Amino acid sequence: MKTITILGATGSIGTSTLDLIEREPERFEVLALTANCDVARLAAAAIRTRAKRAVVADEGCLADLRSALAGTDIKCAGGRAAVIEAATMGADITMGAIVGCIGLEPVMAAIQGGKTVILANKEPLVSAGDVVLAAAAKYGATLLPADSEHNAIFQCFDAARPERVRRIILTCSGGPFRTWSTAEMRSVTPEQAVAHPNWSMGAKISVDSATLFNKGLELIEAARLFPVPHDSIEIVIHPQSVIHSLVDYVDGSVLAQMGPPDMRTPIAHCLAWPDRMATPMAPLDLVAIGRLDFEAPDPERFPALRLTREALNMGGARPAILNAANEIAVAAFLAREIGFLEIAAIVDDTLSVYHPAAPGTLGDVLAVDAEARSIARRQVGYRNGALMKDSVV
Ligand code: NDP
Ligand code: MG
Repeated sequence: MKTITILGATGSIGTSTLDLIEREPERFEVLALTANCDVARLAAAAIRTRAKRAVVADEGCLADLRSALAGTDIKCAGGRAAVIEAATMGADITMGAIVGCIGLEPVMAAIQGGKTVILANKEPLVSAGDVVLAAAAKYGATLLPADSEHNAIFQCFDAARPERVRRIILTCSGGPFRTWSTAEMRSVTPEQAVAHPNWSMGAKISVDSATLFNKGLELIEAARLFPVPHDSIEIVIHPQSVIHSLVDYVDGSVLAQMGPPDMRTPIAHCLAWPDRMATPMAPLDLVAIGRLDFEAPDPERFPALRLTREALNMGGARPAILNAANEIAVAAFLAREIGFLEIAAIVDDTLSVYHPAAPGTLGDVLAVDAEARSIARRQVGYRNGALMKDSVV
C-alpha cells in the first residue's frame, strides 16, 4: 500500500491518475487531492477515494468545498499555502498535475519530502530545472516523468551509460495545424486550437500542442532530465502518436516506446515503477494502425521551435521568461484578446526586452517569472490595441 497525493486532481492528468488508482484501491491510499476551484469534481473524487484532505487553491471556493464535504471527515483547506502544505503531508507518491509554473512551489514542497514525485506538470522543470533537480538530489527524491515523450525516453534510456546515447528523438504529432500555411493559421480560433487530433488534454497544453510550444517546452524538459548534449535532442513529426519517443545508441540501435495515445499508460508506468500495473485500454493494434509516418518539423511556420531551442542553448533565465510569456499569451488567446500567431510573437517580444541575471534560487525564478508575466501582459495589451506603443517598456 502506497500513499498518494494528487496536485491538480480535477484536470485531465489528475482524472486519468484517479481512474488508475481507483482500479487498485488495495494498492493506493489517497492523502490529499487539490484543485483550483472545481469543487464538484474535487469533492466527488475525495469522497470516492476517502481522501484525508481536499484543497482548493482559490480561497473563494473554500466555502463551497466545505458544504460539498459536510458530514464527511475529509479535512478542507483553501489558498495557495494550503496547496503547498498538502504537498508536505509525506505521501509516498506525489503526482504533479497542476498546469503552469504555479505548480512549482507545491512540487518543490513535495520534493523536500524525499519520496517519489511524478511530474506531468512540465512548466516547473522548464522554468526552474536546475533548482528542481538540485532539490531532488539534496532531499533524495525520485523524479519520474509522466509526460509521454519523456516517459518513453525514460523507458529506453540507459542511465548507466548516457555516453553511449547518440541522439534522443522526441516525436511530435504536429498538432491540428500540421499542414496549414501561416496565412491559414492567422485566423485560428480557440475552439480549433484545442481540438487536438490524437490526445484529449487541458486547454493550455492543447494550445501549446497547436503552436508547437509544447514540443519546445518538452525539448527543454528532455534536456533537464537526460544527460546528453542539447544538440543531440531532435524533434521529428509523427502524426499517428504511436511512437512516443526514441533513443538512438552509438551502435545504431534505436529503441522506441510505443503505446496508445492515452496518458494512462505513462502515468501507470510512473505509479507502479519499477513494477508494472494494468491499464484498461485495448492492446495496440499495429495492423489497424497500418503505417507510421515521419516528417521534419517546420520552424518557419512554427517559430516556437526556434524560440525554445534558442532559450535552451542560452540558458540562464531564458527558459523561465519563455515559459511565463507563453502562459500569458496562451491565456490571452483563449480569452480572444490576441490571435493565434501572436502567441509566438509575444514570447519573442518578451524575450527580446527582458535580460535578467540567471536565477540561482527558487525565489529568483519566481521573480523572473513574475516580471516576464507583467511584460508579456503589456505586450498583450499593446497587440490588443488597448495600450499605445509608447507605453510598452
Ligand atoms: P488541466 O487544465 O486539465 O488541469 C489543471 C489542473 O490544475 C486542475 O486540477 C486545475 O484545477 C489545477 N489548477 C489550475 N490552476 C491552478 C492554480 N492556480 N493553482 C492550483 N491548481 C490549479 O491540465 P492538464 O491535466 O492537461 O495538464 C496538467 C499538466 O500536465 C500541465 O503542465 C501539462 O503540460 C502537463 N501534461 C498534460 C498532458 C495531458 O495529456 N493533459 C500530457 C503531458 C503533460 P481546476 O480544475 O479547479 O481548475
Ligand atoms: Mg508530451
